[in-house]
Amino acid sequence: MTDAARRPPAAPDAPEHVDVLIVGAGVSGIGSAWQLQKRLPDARFVVLETLDTFGGTWVTHRYPGIRSDSDLHTYGYSFKPWTGPPIATAAEIKAYMGEIIAEAGLDSHIHYRHRVVSADWSSAEKRWTIVAERLDTGDSVHFTAGFLWMCQGYYRHDEGYAPEWPGMDEFGGSIVHPQTWPDDLDVSGKRVVVIGSGATAATLLPAIAGQCAHVTMLQRSPTYFRTGRNAIDLAETLRELAVDEAWIHEIVRRKILFDQDAFTRQTFARPDKVKAELIGAIRTIMGPDYDVDTHFTPSYRPWRQRIAFVPDADLFEAVKRGEASVVTDTIDRFTPTGIRLGSGEELEADIVVTATGFHLSVMGDIPFAVDGKAVDFADTVTYRGMMFTGVPNLVWVFGYFRASWTLRTDLVADFVCRLLPHMRAKGLSAVEAALRPDEVGASRKPWGDEENFNPGYLMRGMHLLPKAGPGSDWQHSQDYWADKDAFPAIDLGDPVFVYR
Ligand SMILES: Cc1cc2nc3c(=O)[nH]c(=O)nc-3n(C[C@H](O)[C@H](O)[C@H](O)COP(=O)(O)OP(=O)(O)OC[C@H]3O[C@@H](n4cnc5c(N)ncnc54)[C@H](O)[C@@H]3O)c2cc1C
Repeated sequence: MTDAARRPPAAPDAPEHVDVLIVGAGVSGIGSAWQLQKRLPDARFVVLETLDTFGGTWVTHRYPGIRSDSDLHTYGYSFKPWTGPPIATAAEIKAYMGEIIAEAGLDSHIHYRHRVVSADWSSAEKRWTIVAERLDTGDSVHFTAGFLWMCQGYYRHDEGYAPEWPGMDEFGGSIVHPQTWPDDLDVSGKRVVVIGSGATAATLLPAIAGQCAHVTMLQRSPTYFRTGRNAIDLAETLRELAVDEAWIHEIVRRKILFDQDAFTRQTFARPDKVKAELIGAIRTIMGPDYDVDTHFTPSYRPWRQRIAFVPDADLFEAVKRGEASVVTDTIDRFTPTGIRLGSGEELEADIVVTATGFHLSVMGDIPFAVDGKAVDFADTVTYRGMMFTGVPNLVWVFGYFRASWTLRTDLVADFVCRLLPHMRAKGLSAVEAALRPDEVGASRKPWGDEENFNPGYLMRGMHLLPKAGPGSDWQHSQDYWADKDAFPAIDLGDPVFVYR
């Protein structure tokens, strides 16, 4: 039975009222729903999800080898031990999420194939009206909700980003984006060129090397990678000692977070040293004859873009075996048989994979209105990356770049599960984050600091994102280690929260 078939469909016309409506059944939506149910068992809630199953990113991306690039002890939830290898496949992550849904009985709250198409706040009624399109019937379904919990992710699920290069229409082979990988694409015996150097390219290369005739990673510039065994020594030792899995999960989480904190600090304090260590590790694997300077030595300081973990050095081993190669060059144009490079060389290809990133999407591109006035989130200022000025009773889960996304899910959930009872106890129905009088005139900055972290999708879409304001209250810190103390300490009586 499919996930959708298990869930009775929402009534087509009668608006269903809930205390909380969660948009999205990816890792954020499922983690938030679990926390909400556990912490506020009386809350009525639904989760609306466009797809016919849970998993979000781990369902949309179906390219060969699809796996996490961060460890599952911290990417997994705090409340459910992860017992497998730290780097996990999409299927393993989905299975883990499925267990949580089954154990907590969350299925009965999830409406699959429901795409949210509008959200309107009424100050008079102090509630949201949400319209969803049922993808199985085409009907519109109305919900009303006291609180909206946006877990719809940060990129467009229906199409990836690929630049236009001259000659693409003349190319005689196939051009595919990893986000819309055709189920029937057969790479055997084919010459494949993967454009890009991020985690997706680094995953695809070893996954298809050996199956296809040859795979080439064509990158404009190199990216940092870390590599090691796909195992955690401490977890293995604790398991040998027959320590309970729940303890292992917690201990290993703490150890990983401690180490990541130290690593991140080092990248700021001693970037050259960290760079030398990262590159040195790759040089050791690739040997003295490989041109590590050209292909694996980025020009930027470590952590300005995500550093993918390459388990068991599989990317590098595929290159060493000669099944894969890396070319660092620019693209001049596509030709009927491949890609002509800036250097004049031509790369022959039967299949070109554009692993070139995402389209950033703010609030799932859903049209929002407050009292009939359209909301442009780019005109709002964010309270800690989760609330937005002028938009009541709403949070967005936007995870971390340098730590696992899900760590943020728990922090936001903790905040919401304190906020809602606080409001109920005081007989309040609406809350909005508002700049304090002395902050109103302060200049607004972009959501993220380009000098700090600058992946392409963020740079292309920064103008769409809410703004940062003065001080740490008014920005997404991107610092889990600061947030983990700051979030639980948020004073719900602070004048930044305007209640009605
Ligand atoms: C290939 C890949 C690998 C990644 N690996 C890691 C990693 O290892 N570690 C890490 O920390 N981060 C990783 N990330 C970042 C990753 O996106 C997050 O970790 C996480 O999956 C985001 O979860 P989410 O639930 O917030 O959003 P998503 O996974 O994007 O899920 C959002 C869900 O909301 C649904 N939705 C969207 N709009 C609507 C709508 N209008 N109505 C109803 N439903 C809607 C979507 O269908 C989707 O199911 C990776 C990203 C990608 C693309």
